[in-house]
Amino acid sequence: MRVNGARLWSRLMEMAEIGATVQGGCNRQALTDLDLQGRSLLSRWAEAAGCTVRVDAVGNLFIRRPGRDAALPVVMTGSHLDTQPTGGKFDGVYGVLAGLEVIESLNDRAAATLRPIEVAVWCNEEGSRFPMAMMGSAVWSGRLALETAYGLTDRGGTSVRQELERFGIATHAPIARQAVKACFEAHIEQGPVLEETSKTIGVVTGVQHMSRHEVVIEGQEAHAGPTPMHLRRDPVRVLADLLPALYAATAQRGPQARFTVGFIETLPGSPNTVPGRLRFTVDIRHPDAGQYRELREELERLVRAELERHALRGNVRCVWEAPGVSFDAGCVEAVRGAVAALGLDAMEMVSGAGHDSCNVSAVVPTAMIFVPCAGGLSHNEAESALPADLEAGANVLLHAMMSMADG
Ligand SMILES: [Zn+2]
Repeated sequence: MRVNGARLWSRLMEMAEIGATVQGGCNRQALTDLDLQGRSLLSRWAEAAGCTVRVDAVGNLFIRRPGRDAALPVVMTGSHLDTQPTGGKFDGVYGVLAGLEVIESLNDRAAATLRPIEVAVWCNEEGSRFPMAMMGSAVWSGRLALETAYGLTDRGGTSVRQELERFGIATHAPIARQAVKACFEAHIEQGPVLEETSKTIGVVTGVQHMSRHEVVIEGQEAHAGPTPMHLRRDPVRVLADLLPALYAATAQRGPQARFTVGFIETLPGSPNTVPGRLRFTVDIRHPDAGQYRELREELERLVRAELERHALRGNVRCVWEAPGVSFDAGCVEAVRGAVAALGLDAMEMVSGAGHDSCNVSAVVPTAMIFVPCAGGLSHNEAESALPADLEAGANVLLHAMMSMADG
């Protein structure tokens, strides 16, 4: 059995017209009129395919194709329809429409499954309008209180609760999490690895550990001319010694280690003043828990050692951390089996970005399927992917779901 790649592509293009930007991307942010239009279009497609559509109290939308036994836990897939303000046509949308394509392909063959099949549209995955990425899946999985989600506001002061109510979504009902046997999420990779290695499918075994740190170093402001080098208290000097040590510590932890200094600020920020204060951020990621922890500890150790060596005061603190996720072995095996049955070129990988599946996997056996995107670009209006790759990913999704749907 195979999906209909042409139908999947045409639906992706039709959905992309809602919120289309002049640069060829999409701006369909969570709980805007455009988001509602996208959800309505999807609901019409789902109802025409004989499915029921249900929306929960945080705006997650569930499309259900009945199984022979309505009482059994469902086999689920899903992703998100909301985009970044300058987003693309595929991030999230692909996972939702690939799920719908699975249902329609089963319909084409009049293939019944024992278990019901559900496609989830998780509300506010991007967190760009309401500042909480993966909001809907976090509430559904019990990791975020419903009232906290309701209280989030956009820049104009409008709350999630107000927007849900404006769309006629009942906000008093408790979130009743349906029983799920297994969940799969198809997504574009959002990185360059599959394209660079000419692979069609990424079998995603987990999501890497990640954290963000802020380092502050106190120095002393001084005139850049009269002050001899050895009499300065220059925080940039500490950074200059720290960076090679940190890059080396990262390299020691293998090609999967990530270390990024994305923000550096000196105060007062004047060209002819030795800075009195330096602040920079460090983003650390690693798929292996032990290596990740070591790299975190190494950062703290190196900062303290360099501060001491230069006799300057300062500190390093962790400002955000997301623990890594190991996906369910059975679900990953189902994806591997589908790839093998279809004879596709695949590689195992760990996601560098967060996804709804991180939340879902806390309560339900979960795995992800990646397909390549051009140049690894995402969160970008130029985001693009090949129809053949998207079709291959949807076929993997179909077979992985089918392998769970009758057992
Ligand atoms: Zn996404």
